[in-house]
Amino acid sequence: MEDLDMKAMARSLHFGKSVHDNGWGMFTTFLKYKLEDQGKQLIRIDKWYPSSQTCSVCGYKNPETKDLGMREWDCPN
Ligand SMILES: [Zn+2]
Repeated sequence: MEDLDMKAMARSLHFGKSVHDNGWGMFTTFLKYKLEDQGKQLIRIDKWYPSSQTCSVCGYKNPETKDLGMREWDCPN
């Protein structure tokens, strides 16, 4: 999951109120617990990590996906 900057979001007008109730913090705590129960782990990734540009099979990075209109792509590799 993306490692959201909750302090920055709390300062923003758009997210401020919903972030202060700490719903997100509780959600991530429960998610981590449920995953560990299944022998899995929760991994936080930097918000700049290009997860939608990277092939989940071979790791090829497709720069064309910076166009957010592109929702699917076939790996050329
Ligand atoms: Zn690939």
